[in-house]
Amino acid sequence: MHSPVPDYLAEVADACAVTTSGEPASYIPELATVDPDRFGVAMATVDGTLYSVGDARHEFTIQSISKAFAYGLAVRELGLEAVLTKVDVEPSGDPFDELSLEPSTGRPRNPMINAGAITTHAMIGGPDISPMGRFEAIHRLLCDLAGRELAVDDEVWRSEMTTSDRNLAIAHLLRSHGMISDSPEEVVSAYARQCAVLVTAEDLAVMAATLTNAGVQPVTGQRVFSGDQVRHLLSVMLTCGMYDSAGDWVSSVGIPAKSGVGGGIIGALPGQVGIATFSPRLDAHGNSVRGIEVFERLSRDMGLHLMEVAPPARSVVHATRVEGSGDDAVRVLELSGTIGFTGAERILRRLAEHPLEERRVAIDLSGVHALHGPARMMLLEATRRMRLDGYEVHLVDPDDVLPDPDPGDGRLLEPLPSSV
Ligand code: GLU
Repeated sequence: MHSPVPDYLAEVADACAVTTSGEPASYIPELATVDPDRFGVAMATVDGTLYSVGDARHEFTIQSISKAFAYGLAVRELGLEAVLTKVDVEPSGDPFDELSLEPSTGRPRNPMINAGAITTHAMIGGPDISPMGRFEAIHRLLCDLAGRELAVDDEVWRSEMTTSDRNLAIAHLLRSHGMISDSPEEVVSAYARQCAVLVTAEDLAVMAATLTNAGVQPVTGQRVFSGDQVRHLLSVMLTCGMYDSAGDWVSSVGIPAKSGVGGGIIGALPGQVGIATFSPRLDAHGNSVRGIEVFERLSRDMGLHLMEVAPPARSVVHATRVEGSGDDAVRVLELSGTIGFTGAERILRRLAEHPLEERRVAIDLSGVHALHGPARMMLLEATRRMRLDGYEVHLVDPDDVLPDPDPGDGRLLEPLPSSV
């Protein structure tokens, strides 16, 4: 069978290609020279499968999308608390290049606007690193995320430096508030070079899929961020990633995202897919017009909105049966699916409301794919209480979904004796 996924992506891209509104960014002169009709869409799954259509292998500059990853690197290097002392995580509602800081603290409002991104950039690599050493550290990170060596567009870099008065003004303001200490010229130059790294939509989809995959690059298997770092980064992307239209984006698309004035948008849906689009025609906020359309369609058609309400959890107690008879009878509770807090609550409620008649009980996890941390604790606590009530509790766990089954009373749960 030929997979329908690429055909579906092509259909979405064709439908959005008719839109020709918006213009490439021109405040960086070199960006205005791109072909405005280039258009590519790519999607990467958590197991590293890549689907793409159109100009998804055409290189363009990453621009603001780099801000999200550089922020992740700052959090990875310094820890969240230290980063928060210099950059807040509040959506600003201001344009990306707004010259403003929080009045009470002097901090930029978030790391996705230029003031926050320049501050984050300057935190990387410790106090003794050179400005270009800092660029190299961020470049290394971007290459690790893409799983290949990425080039830099020197023309775009130089071009941005001829028109960077605003970013220089922001950097001077930041230094006057003690948020950066290096020379504003050097910091802005290295930051602009970070923005001039060349990527394709395919690269970006894989980079997004690394976030989707809790920080592990799905193709190379390299762990780039920890799960906690990714959770924080995705939260900031969700609330601040789409310039001053972040609120619209959350309601119409609902996927943590970041856009750049080079025409790229990435979206990372936790546990599912990384998506990237490339189309240089931008709206008034600086977001790619076709990119937004693609994301809106995918979110709607594929139910990818983060707030999409999942079908009500079905009972995770798949069946119960009795094995053996008389005093030796064992009540086997067969659990199934992926068990999180809600599923575990159902099991516990059932055990509490309908005490089992048999004295011997086996919890059969053969049909369980995954047991989330809180569900594991809840299940173990239930078995501890059942033991206190006089039950003999066993575990059937051929796939080891509940390793180290210690209910906390010093006696590990045992498998069912083979005689049963
Ligand atoms: N290099 C650009 C700047 O700082 C990035 C802006 C963007 O993509 O939003 O102005």
